[in-house]
Amino acid sequence: MHYRSPYPALEIPETNILSYLFPPGREPSDRPIWIDAKDPQHSLSPRQALVWIKKLAVLLDKLEIQHGEAVMMLTPNHIFVPIAYLGIVGSGRVFSGANPIYTVDEVKYQISNTGARVIFVHPTLLDVAIEAGQRVGLGKDRILQFDDQPCAQLNGVRDWRDLTTDSAEYVWDPMGQSSKTTLATVNYSSGTTGLPKGVSISHYNIVANAEQTIFMRDQEKHYSASNRPIERWLGFLPLYHAYGQLYMCVMAPKLLVPVYIMRKFVYEDFLLSLQTHRITHLQAAPPILIMLDKRPETSNYDLTSLKNILCGAAPLSKELQRAVSKRFKVNILQGWGLTEVTCGAIHLPGGCQDDSGSVGVLDPNCECRLLDDSGKEVGPGEPGEMYIRGPQVCLGYWRNENATKEAIDEEGWLKTGDIAVVKGGRFWIVDRKKELIKVNALQVAPAELEAILLENENIADAAVVGITLRGEEWPRGYIVLREESRKNVNAEDIQKWMKGRVAKHKQLAGGINFIDEVPKLASGKIQRKIMREWAKRDAIAI
Ligand code: AMP
Repeated sequence: MHYRSPYPALEIPETNILSYLFPPGREPSDRPIWIDAKDPQHSLSPRQALVWIKKLAVLLDKLEIQHGEAVMMLTPNHIFVPIAYLGIVGSGRVFSGANPIYTVDEVKYQISNTGARVIFVHPTLLDVAIEAGQRVGLGKDRILQFDDQPCAQLNGVRDWRDLTTDSAEYVWDPMGQSSKTTLATVNYSSGTTGLPKGVSISHYNIVANAEQTIFMRDQEKHYSASNRPIERWLGFLPLYHAYGQLYMCVMAPKLLVPVYIMRKFVYEDFLLSLQTHRITHLQAAPPILIMLDKRPETSNYDLTSLKNILCGAAPLSKELQRAVSKRFKVNILQGWGLTEVTCGAIHLPGGCQDDSGSVGVLDPNCECRLLDDSGKEVGPGEPGEMYIRGPQVCLGYWRNENATKEAIDEEGWLKTGDIAVVKGGRFWIVDRKKELIKVNALQVAPAELEAILLENENIADAAVVGITLRGEEWPRGYIVLREESRKNVNAEDIQKWMKGRVAKHKQLAGGINFIDEVPKLASGKIQRKIMREWAKRDAIAI
């Protein structure tokens, strides 16, 4: 079937993100928008932010970072990360954020893959940045400390503020049509297969997705551009991921909604912030709902200010949705998207009551085709793989033409790897066809873990697949040991081997199975379908 959004098409402004957020002739607001959740006096209004955004843009000129070149960010969330995002992107460079828990190898991969020639790093992560930089030939002069307050020089690395100058006269390129081809961000996703790849997102993609998402929220009866009720958001989603970026860096300043930014997700701090700042809306993922439902600390806090939770990024069971919604009297609406569509493409319209497990309807300007394995459109109500077309679909994979061609066809349809059924225009995600595993709503690419396992001299072959245990997904390794290693190598040895090599969410927390052979096609491709069946079988046995 071929589905179109039920809403009239929106006119998407063709413009630099900065012109979208700071339209010419309009004074920037003095209301604090980015607020430190632990120290609310520490905040930035759009007017204050603009001063820093311009300073950062001029600094990038001084560092001779060309337009279209990537700048890497390695930092936990703080109120200056949106400044970095808007300064880098608005001045024509490309923002690429890395997970702050990444190991040196993972950071190195991202630096060399993006070709970044400068790294902004939080002082607590300096050692990782220096070592990763060294391995790719980036000296300490190309690394700058980046925190929400001035830092003293550390280990020979300067603070970015020390290099800034008065930049009040800086003017950005307003762009127009070129916003469609000018890159803004490169976030990482493994797509439907293989290693993590940079996803090329343009200014136009971001402006379009912000407009589409705002439109869907405004379906709530009493909302309109001139009459939105007061909202307060909590900024705990990571700013190296599309979901956090769209809401915290773009939609919060566009809607002038204050967002209380958390540096680190600690559950009790999260509850305390909800209570203290009287948070009204959450952008969340299923693991947050699981904690709200199950953790005993939840009942120690007053969460009565909460009105709405948007839940996306991973499958949410309707039982959990109903339990949380009933207990806290909040309306929980799902949304669906992926890094390759900037952030989202399907949402439940604001204000609707739907706890059927549906992720919603197509956003304006968006189309979807559901295809079977042979590429034929499926009939009404039948499951099919989702192909998406719309103004928020990425330009492709960063410097990877082959992967781009495999993902997006000549007519602009993006292959998503998700399986859905549609009834009455509403979508339900029923399965995932791609290799991707989602742990704590974060991406884990089996191919990346398999490559690392194969570096172990005791391992002859390996396949990694997601296993669902107690409603959550984890990577599980199916490993063939070399003949001579079979007697003296055990699962614990393999787990130890992985520990220093990949971040916590990529550990084989779903366990390890030793097998005789990885099922493969004659071409050498792992038969993922069979692996998934094995994981299902093992999940029952565990
Ligand atoms: P990411 O690119 O990290 O945002 O991950 C995107 C993937 O997360 C999608 O392709 C889906 O497999 C999954 N996903 C996102 N939202 C949902 C949802 N509401 N329900 C089920 N899976 C989802």
